Parts: sequence; C-alpha cells; structure tokens
Amino acid sequence: MLLLSPSLGGSSSSRRSRPLRRTRLHSSLLFLLLALFLALTTLVIAASSPSYYKLLDIDPSADAKTIKKAYRRLAQRLHPDKHPEKEEEFVKMSEAYQVLSDEELRKVYDKFGEDGVKRHQAGKAGGASNDPFDVFRNFFGGGRQDQQVRKGQSKQFNLLLDLQQIYLGHTFNLEYERKVVCNTCDGSGARSKEDMGTCGGCQGRGVRIVTQEIMPGFRTQMQTVCNICSGTGIQITHKCSKCNGQKLILEKAELEVEIDPGTEEGEVYVFEGEADEEVDSGIEAGDIIVRVNSDRSHPSLFRRRSSHLYLTRTLTLPDALLGFTDSFQHMDGRNITLSRTGVTQTGWVGTIEGEGMPIRSSKGKRGNLYVEYELVLPERVEGDMLKVLEKAFGRKALKATTGGAHTHEEL
Ligand SMILES: [Zn+2]
Ligand SMILES: [Zn+2]
Repeated sequence: MLLLSPSLGGSSSSRRSRPLRRTRLHSSLLFLLLALFLALTTLVIAASSPSYYKLLDIDPSADAKTIKKAYRRLAQRLHPDKHPEKEEEFVKMSEAYQVLSDEELRKVYDKFGEDGVKRHQAGKAGGASNDPFDVFRNFFGGGRQDQQVRKGQSKQFNLLLDLQQIYLGHTFNLEYERKVVCNTCDGSGARSKEDMGTCGGCQGRGVRIVTQEIMPGFRTQMQTVCNICSGTGIQITHKCSKCNGQKLILEKAELEVEIDPGTEEGEVYVFEGEADEEVDSGIEAGDIIVRVNSDRSHPSLFRRRSSHLYLTRTLTLPDALLGFTDSFQHMDGRNITLSRTGVTQTGWVGTIEGEGMPIRSSKGKRGNLYVEYELVLPERVEGDMLKVLEKAFGRKALKATTGGAHTHEEL
C-alpha cells in the first residue's frame, strides 16, 4: 500500500500544470499519461508482492494456531520435492510463516511491512536461519543427521471418506487418547519436592555395583541399573496422587483435521508431536498421522480417476436420434446442463472441462468431467411405434419363425 504513494504525487503535479495555455496543454496531457502509467506500474508492483497474510491465506487477526495450521497445509502442498515448479511460491510462503510465527517480527511487520522486517533483522547479528527448508524440517521433523532428535511412536488413523467428502473437502475433530506428562508432579511422579529423596539403593547414581564371586577367591565387580529407583537415582517417598507415580497420564485429545478438496487416495496428513509424550524429555512426542482413503462402498453417481470424474448417462432412442437437454446435480449441489443436438452414438464421451475433482496441489484448479453416453433401447417395439418405424425405415420387421431353428441370441 505504501507503494501507491508515488502515483498520488504524479497526479498532483498534473493538476498544477492544468491552467496553462494550449501550447502547454500537450505537456499536461503527457503528465497525466505519465501519472496514469506510474499508477498502473505501482499497482502491478503492489499486486506482485501480496501480504504475508495473503501468502498464508489467513486473516490478519489469525492466532498462532491458525498460522501454524496454514503453514502445515501449504508447506505440504508446495514443497519442491513434490512440486518443483512451486519452489518460488514455497520460499515466499516460508518467509511469511517465519515472520508471522514470531511474535516480535509479526509486530514489526504489521507496523512497517516487509522492509521493516528486513531492517529489523539486519540490525540483529546472526538471527535464526532463513532457509525455507530448515523451517520445513524444524516444523515437520524428519531430522537432520547432525542433531538427531529422538522421537516417540507415531499413531496412525485411517480415514474413510466418500467421494463427495473428498470433492468438497472435509473438516472434523479427531478425538483420541494420548499420554501426557503429568502436570501435577511435572513428570516427577512425586507428591512434592520433599517427597523426592536420593535413592538409598544407589546413592543417587542410578547404578549399583554388585560384587560377584565367580570362583573361590576371584571376585568381580559388575555395574547394574539400580532396581529400587529404576536408574533415576531418586527415591520417591510419596507418589503423586494424580498419576500414581507413573509420571504420565492418559488424556483426551482433540485435533481439528482439515482434509483438502481433491486429496489423493492414500495421502497422509501429519500432525507433528501430537501423539504420546514421553517421560524422557529428550524424546519428542510422536506424530499423529491421518491417512485418507475413499469409501468405495458408498454409492456415487461419479467415478474418480485422479483429478478426473466420470459419469455414465443413459440415452433413450429419441434422445440418441433427436438430441436432448438434460441436467444432473454435481456434488456441490449445482445443476449442470447436458445438451446435444442431432445424433449421439452410444459410447460417445462428452468432456466438460474444469468440472472434475479439485486438484489439491493447485488451488482453484480442477480436472475434467467425462460423460459417457449409453443407449438403452426399449424392450420391444409394437403397435403404432412399430408401424411408424417400419414406414420410416422402409421395411417390415422380421417375425420369429415358428420352429426357431435359425434364431439365436447374442449377448
Ligand atoms: Zn537407586
Ligand atoms: Zn503426577
């Protein structure tokens, strides 16, 4: 928006040149044209760098959770590993996420825009990494070799959706149980700090030295994990009443899962760190994985093949010969008109461009809808209809011979 100001300057200078004589009229016209040109180019510049909010497709009032969710969705949709042609879009979107997910930077951005953020970052020596791939790795895990993050087990849920739900997109709350670190004892398992003493069995070392006599006169010392404190070195006199000393409690968890329209068969949605927490703070909670599959037992007018949809439409004999106008209801409730003039052959396939499945990786785009026509003939032709047809075709219908010797049926 700041970029629009030069055009205002341009138009005011053209106003100043207005009350001059005819010879100067050309120059004022030139000024006006220049001003218009400037206004247009600045508009183009403004349009080519959308706001960070727009890049993430969120509202400027979005909270941290929404920003995270938007990044999760877009990062998977734009990652160059899957979509090399979208690298630029991915980089730009990552930049937007980096800024908006940082409270301080977001404030700077809201006040001073992109340039303000750059100045702010330049003023700070060695900030966080700007590599969009680092941002992606940090967000989704997948780990760097040099700093192995240990991770707990992931939990997978298989989601069956019917074709309409995949076509329209589907949002639901996934409810499940997860183990979380007990917040009453902060994962210590003890009622209070005073209830945690040094283990008497190992003197707090977590291991015990056991002396064994392997043969008369020969002794060897062996180190084993302390069986009293299980290696923690801490002996608890009174257990935490909430977790009963288990350090973890089972909790009901809920995740809002948003399945994008056009999600492919078997595609997964990963929710980082939403599975069970671990007692060991060095182990990150595992992921919740939602795998989408289509529920084929659910009847549908349509059949899906990647981003295209197929529909079979029956034709009556008059439809096939004389043309028809008909309509059907698409999965989003819109009525689509089908119309043909002249003869339509059975097996003919009509293409309706852009009425297929939404394409998840490119928002707003859709595949095609193919309508296959199938002629259904009447069971028999008799009476007036028979007479009319015989006249039209200029010959009589064949009658079945009484013996039936020469008749045979074809499938
Ligand atoms: Zn011990
Ligand atoms: Zn507890």
